Amino acid sequence: MPDRAETTLYEKISERLRFYEDLGLSPFYRDRRSPKKLSTFSVESSPASTEEPILPKAAPKATAVPNAAWKPVVPVLPVATGPSLFEGAGKIPGEMLLEVREDLGECTRCKLHKTRNKIVFGDGSAKAQLVFVGEGPGADEDAQGLPFVGRAGKLLTQMIEAMGLQRSDVYICNVVKCRPPGNRQPENDEVEKCSPFLFRQLDVLQPKVIVCLGATAAQTLLQTNRSISHFRGQWMDFRGYKMLATYHPAYLLRNPAAKGDVWKDLQKVMVELGLEIKKNKAR
Ligand code: URA
Repeated sequence: MPDRAETTLYEKISERLRFYEDLGLSPFYRDRRSPKKLSTFSVESSPASTEEPILPKAAPKATAVPNAAWKPVVPVLPVATGPSLFEGAGKIPGEMLLEVREDLGECTRCKLHKTRNKIVFGDGSAKAQLVFVGEGPGADEDAQGLPFVGRAGKLLTQMIEAMGLQRSDVYICNVVKCRPPGNRQPENDEVEKCSPFLFRQLDVLQPKVIVCLGATAAQTLLQTNRSISHFRGQWMDFRGYKMLATYHPAYLLRNPAAKGDVWKDLQKVMVELGLEIKKNKAR
């Protein structure tokens, strides 16, 4: 919990950010959180050490220069530690997502590029409140350049529709954007090279809820090696976003008995998003 002094500083900076937002300079900081949100959703397994700072560092205090000529008072703005404070100002999320896609380019950052057909960046609404994150493209996704379009994807579509949504209402992406050969798990170096693009996608989307499909997605966001069984179905914090991990649809194809657990997890998400839960919904 921030102490009183930190809270006051936080409030002052928040007020200043709101002021700039009111002027139309929005969104211009990508990781804004309230202390309340942090305390409500941070969990043991969300390591503070790997998170980006909650607030930018305060600019150094100006020192008074005797007899200095009068200068207009310029508001002291917080100094962003990442991209520029005004990056994204006036841009819509769709444009910002395109910029992330352009930065990814015809990526050759890891060895997966050698065997891929198409990069699978992500698909869905840039205004989505709900984002699903999978592990990496399979054969169908690699052929079409779209996430979750194979058998597991059909099941994911059914899950989304059971929640009362359409695929076009949500955003779907993966930890790695190129298919690992033979559908093996992505290796650490591949995740390291590719996950910054996932994090940028999430920062642009600023979803209300992130659902991690399977262990790879959850472990990447939480920066942990712990088994998904430790935190499946529990609300967690990822940089101020509410995040919940559930089983991957491919796992459900092999273990249909686990569908009940996933449906319970999705119902938690529905409550969070204010979606109506109908009794006896077919699974
Ligand atoms: N499995 C995933 O994790 N992602 C896809 O896009 C397809 C299958």
